[in-house]
Amino acid sequence: MNFLEERILKDGVVREGNVLKVDSFLNHQIDISLLEQIGAEFKKRFDGEKITKILTIEASGIGIACIVARYFNVPVLFAKKTQSINVDGDKYSTDVESFTHGCTNHVFVSKKYLCSSDKVLIIDDFLARGSALLGLTELVRQAGAEVVGIGIAIEKGFQDGGRIIREKGFHLESIAIVESMDSSKGTITFRD
Ligand code: 5GP
Repeated sequence: MNFLEERILKDGVVREGNVLKVDSFLNHQIDISLLEQIGAEFKKRFDGEKITKILTIEASGIGIACIVARYFNVPVLFAKKTQSINVDGDKYSTDVESFTHGCTNHVFVSKKYLCSSDKVLIIDDFLARGSALLGLTELVRQAGAEVVGIGIAIEKGFQDGGRIIREKGFHLESIAIVESMDSSKGTITFRD
């Protein structure tokens, strides 16, 4: 069992509706030492790849992405969900269905920050049905840039996202892959 799987077993809470709460160390309160370990792990798994940018989606991917970016020494770009007067000019945009909020978000990045020469490592906290990742890969496609890899902290392997993303040929690395979880018993198992 790796460091993240151990932490999920210790502090993760299984909720009804296939939701794993990790609010005490990843999604609300954040354990920076754990993020450092996640950053080091992704550095190892994507070592040798030429990466010019980390791309994630607000809000919960940003913390992990920032630590990973320090290991690759590149900027972080995050897809925004809300229009703001601070973002000017043309944008790449697409729709993303939120698994946890049950709504559709129109997400975008400014064309200024993603260009055709970029080699992008996509980072996010969770992979469930794959909508967030499909949205992020679509933004990269619109820019004519390349997805070099995708790093996920926690993949829920019993949902479809991992299969969909791997079948599209992306290099997907998930540090913890949850095989099953049961909200009534509070049990969690991981894929080897
Ligand atoms: P997907 O788009 O793959 O269906 O869902 C991924 C997004 O939904 C992630 O960015 C994450 O924020 C959220 N998410 C999906 N499943 C879970 C979960 O079980 N627990 C938490 N905390 N977030 C989740």
